[in-house]
Amino acid sequence: PEARGTLLSVENASKKFGGVVALKDVSFTVQQGEILGLIGPNGSGKSTMINAISGIAPITSGRIMLEGKEISGQPAWNVHAAGISRIFQNVRVWGSMTVLENVMIAHPATRDLDVLRSTFGARSANAAEDEARVAALEALSLVGIRHLADRPASDLSFGQSRLVEIARGIVNKPRLLLLDEPGAGLRGGLILELAEILKDLRDKGMTILVVEHRIKLVVEMCDRITVLNLGEKIAEGSAESVARDPVVVDAYLGG
Ligand code: ADP
Ligand code: MG
Repeated sequence: PEARGTLLSVENASKKFGGVVALKDVSFTVQQGEILGLIGPNGSGKSTMINAISGIAPITSGRIMLEGKEISGQPAWNVHAAGISRIFQNVRVWGSMTVLENVMIAHPATRDLDVLRSTFGARSANAAEDEARVAALEALSLVGIRHLADRPASDLSFGQSRLVEIARGIVNKPRLLLLDEPGAGLRGGLILELAEILKDLRDKGMTILVVEHRIKLVVEMCDRITVLNLGEKIAEGSAESVARDPVVVDAYLGG
């Protein structure tokens, strides 16, 4: 895709857990409108990086900037409000609610419905609910499961529930979507389907940072790749160049 400037920049990020150095002086950028893959062997610091960007577990030193504004040190809700959505690895849908309701409750307009209703009356609450419903239906369309909107979420397969999680993550139209191993637990065909969905979101203007360890999925969908090993960045570039880089091959095979 066309380069449209830097959306996120991670600058000299380090993270220590007591004596464990999980990230060591890591710098990289995410460009507007790209899918950047963050890969590396187990324990290389990928989840730590996603947690740091989303404000769940801040870095020990360095900084993280979203369009030139520092977000490191901000609590998770501020980072979310600034336009960064994080998809959780474990599926957390409410089985007794419909698929549509599961997505609607992630929309900011539904947060204060009771207050709206008691202060401004039913009409303003209904308007907020309509806004959330429209956005939720659109999000379900984007992940290809709008036809399941009225089904109870308990009817869904594991893979469909993962798509509901993604719909929840995009319902507020984030500027950056973070995914930590979205293909975990999915079978081959579904993984390729997921890659198509993420590429489609990218083509519609979303910027995506995805952690994945399956090289096949990474090569299939990422525009660029950053490789971590033992908390340090060891390579960066196109999927093809990274997959052929002897340093990367060694990190994966040498373990
Ligand atoms: P990855 O996601 O690439 O598999 P992680 O980011 O989960 O790697 O972990 C990186 C390193 O940090 C590992 O050595 C891991 O044991 C350590 N680590 C991660 N989270 C914690 C924590 N909460 N407390 C202590 N050590 C942690
Ligand atoms: Mg991880």
